[in-house]
Amino acid sequence: MDKIAIYPGTFDPITLGHIDIIERASKIFDSVIVTLAVNPSKEPLFSAEERLEMISDAVQNFSNVTIEKFDGLLVNYAIEKKALVIIRGLRAISDFEYEFQMALMNRKLANDIQTVFLMPHEKYTYLNSTIVKGVARFGGNISSFVTPMVAGKLYEKLQVKGELK
Ligand code: ADP
Repeated sequence: MDKIAIYPGTFDPITLGHIDIIERASKIFDSVIVTLAVNPSKEPLFSAEERLEMISDAVQNFSNVTIEKFDGLLVNYAIEKKALVIIRGLRAISDFEYEFQMALMNRKLANDIQTVFLMPHEKYTYLNSTIVKGVARFGGNISSFVTPMVAGKLYEKLQVKGELK
C-alpha cells in the first residue's frame, strides 16, 4: 500500500523552511500532498489561489508531491485522501505546546492517523512566514528565506497594499 502523507499549513507565503520539510517528507513517503488550509480567521496576506501558485512553483521538482486546498476538519480530509500521516514541522520548543495539543486532538479524532514531526535544517529554525513578511515590509533582503518567485510576489503585494515602507 502506498504511504501517503499530507502536509497542512497556511503557507502565507511558502518559505524555504516549508520546502525543506516537503523535501524531507518526499524522501520518506510514496506521496506527499501539500494541503493549503483555507482558514479565514488567519486573515492571510495572499489569497488561496496566490498561495497555491507559489507552492506549485516551489515544489515543481518533487515528482511525488501534489498540492490541494482544503477547509474543514483535517483528519476527515486525511481519511478521504487515504493518508495515514500528517506531517508537521518542528522548529523550536515554542512550537511544541501547540503542535502537541493538535497532534493529540487529531489522534483522539482519528486513532489510525499519525502525526510525524520533521525538523528542518537548523538554518531555518528561526524562520516563519510572519517574520519574512515583517522583514519584507521594511525593504529587508529576504532572498535567503524564500524563493525568488515568492520574494517578487511578496514585494509586489506589499507595494499594491501600500504596506511597503
Ligand atoms: P499553520 O498555520 O498550520 O501553522 P504554517 O504555514 O505556519 O501553517 O506552517 C505549516 C507547518 O510548517 C507547521 O507544522 C510549521 O511548524 C511548519 N513550519 C513553518 N515554518 C517552518 C520552518 N521554517 N521550518 C520548518 N517547519 C516550518
